[in-house]
Amino acid sequence: MPDLKLNNHETIPQLGMGVFQMKDKQAFMDAVNWALEIGYRHFDTAAIYGNEKWLGEALEKSGIDRSEFFITSKLWPGNFDDPIQAYHDSCARLQLDYLDLYLIHWPSPGYDKAWQALEKLYAHQEVKTIGVSNFLETHLERIFQTGQVVPAVDQIELHPYFQRPELVDYLNDHQIKVEAWGPLGQGKTGVFDEPLLKQLATKYNKSVAQIILRWHLQEGHIIFPKSIHQQRLQDNFNLFDFHLRNEEIEQIENLDQDQPNGSTSTNQNFLN
Ligand code: NAD
Repeated sequence: MPDLKLNNHETIPQLGMGVFQMKDKQAFMDAVNWALEIGYRHFDTAAIYGNEKWLGEALEKSGIDRSEFFITSKLWPGNFDDPIQAYHDSCARLQLDYLDLYLIHWPSPGYDKAWQALEKLYAHQEVKTIGVSNFLETHLERIFQTGQVVPAVDQIELHPYFQRPELVDYLNDHQIKVEAWGPLGQGKTGVFDEPLLKQLATKYNKSVAQIILRWHLQEGHIIFPKSIHQQRLQDNFNLFDFHLRNEEIEQIENLDQDQPNGSTSTNQNFLN
């Protein structure tokens, strides 16, 4: 499992498990327990997902040492009035003394002040790393003007039909790592029927999902695909015994249709 180095010299496992839209407790516990058995140690949650408490329970019961985990959660805009309290509430639900990564979930009004609060948590070493999510260039420019710390990551919607090359170049230029949410297009974009990906899946004896996830890894994205199925969790973790050729990476880059799945990913009006 490759670790990537962040701009503050902390490291992050490049692959993890996301837990968005997992509302049934038993299914959640089963999936996280399978993930832990398979070897996942990086989990991406958020206060708004409503399952931090269950994740905390699963981590605690696993008996695995805290230092082996990389845990991310996110500040919801409804809590911009007191981000520090919101952070401590997330830690309490997760039964953790600190988070590895804490993100501003959306750049809703007040995100610049909220960032200053996250900077305080970071300065007091209460959180290992801070970052943002769903930020466009304009929001990052504002953070550069009003803040002190450059976000370590920007977690953005990104998949083969929505590759956002300009935003990705901008993030690379500023040493901000790309975390790709919805790396499989949330299973809704039709990408699983894409002939090129099917052809590559046959060639490498992998599934289309594995081809897409391998492409993300070789592009340098941090990913945490979600599944509640044991076999898919296993497949999504088995990405390290093959390598796409450079021309295949480029062919997948050519699939970009600038087509978001999440309706708000590029909506400046909503985001500002
Ligand atoms: P995803 O792209 O990971 O897609 C998940 C869906 O893909 C599953 O529900 C299933 O239908 C399908 N799938 C998964 N593995 C598969 C496999 N091996 N074969 C076939 N189909 C498979 O979408 P996601 O869960 O929305 O995104 C991943 C994570 O990103 C989330 O769980 C969450 O942690 C994070 N996220 C963040 C934001 C944000 O605003 N920051 C928004 C959405 C998601």
